Amino acid sequence: MLRVDGLRKAFGEKTVLDGLSFEVASGEVVSLLGANGSGKSTSLRCVVGLERPDGGTITVDGVSARPGETTGARSSGELARPLAPSEGVTARSAEAVPTVAMVFQKIHLVPRRSVLDNVCAGALGRLSLSRSWSVLAFPREVQAEAMACLDRVGLADRAREKAGRLSGGQQQRVAVARALCQRAQVLLADEPVSALDPAASEQVMNLLRSLADDDGLAVAAVLHQPDLARRFSDRILGLAGGRLVFDSSSEVTDQAVADLYRPALEALEA
Ligand code: ATP
Ligand code: MG
Repeated sequence: MLRVDGLRKAFGEKTVLDGLSFEVASGEVVSLLGANGSGKSTSLRCVVGLERPDGGTITVDGVSARPGETTGARSSGELARPLAPSEGVTARSAEAVPTVAMVFQKIHLVPRRSVLDNVCAGALGRLSLSRSWSVLAFPREVQAEAMACLDRVGLADRAREKAGRLSGGQQQRVAVARALCQRAQVLLADEPVSALDPAASEQVMNLLRSLADDDGLAVAAVLHQPDLARRFSDRILGLAGGRLVFDSSSEVTDQAVADLYRPALEALEA
C-alpha cells in the first residue's frame, strides 16, 4: 500500500532523512522507534504532504504521491481560520491515489465544536465549500458517514457533546474517526499515545490494530514505548540519524532497541 523509497530531507545544513525506505502493506501495523530527532515525525510528515522531501519517492498503491506537490488543508482559503495540521490533511495528487491521513500526539480537535462536527471536518477535503465551516451545517450524508466513523471508534453516543469535554483518549479516538471520515487507507500516527494513560493507550492501540485487521488500513505509528510496539505491530522500524537501522518483526531484540537510544544516553552522560 505505502512505499517510501530513498526519502531525503534536510533542514538547512542538517540532514534529517538520509535515504529512508520502508513499506507498509494494507492490513499491517508498522511501528517506528528511534531517539528524539532521529527523523520519525519528519518521515511521516513527508508522506502526508506536510513537508516537502528533497528526494526519494512516496507511492501509495503504486501511484506516486508526488512529494512536495501534495496539499494540506485544501479548502483553507474558504475557512475562517487555517486548519490545524490534522484537520483535513490529505495527501493525494490524483483521485486515484488512496488517501493518507495523520493523527498526532497533540490532538487538534476544535474543542467548542461537537464531536460529530470535528469528525465531519475530515470530509472537508472532498467537499467544495462555499462557506466557512464555522457556520457550516455539514450535509446530511456527511453527518451519516461521520456517525458511522464515530461508531467505528466506539464513540457514537458522544456525537453531540463538545469535543473539548472528552478525555484525552476519547479525543484521540475522535481524531482517528476524523481520519476515517477522510476515507483514509493509510493512517499515520505520530506518538498517538504519548499523552495518554495506560488504559487509554491500550484502547487507542487496539483501535489502530483493528483498523488494520478488520478494515485493511495500512497503519504506521511512531511510538516511544517499545513494549507497545512489540505487542501491537507486525513490524518495527528502527530509525537513527534519518536512516533505517532495522526493519524487523515485532520480535525485535531488547539489544536492538537499546542500541537505538544508546547514543542519546551517552550524550547525556558525557
Ligand atoms: P522526537 O522523538 O523528538 O519527536 P523525531 O524523530 O520525530 O523526534 P523529527 O521531528 O523528525 O524527529 O526531527 C528530526 C530533526 O529535524 C531534529 O533535529 C529536528 O530539530 C529537525 N527539524 C524538524 N523539523 C524542522 C524544521 N521545520 N526546521 C528545522 N529543523 C527541523
Ligand atoms: Mg517526533
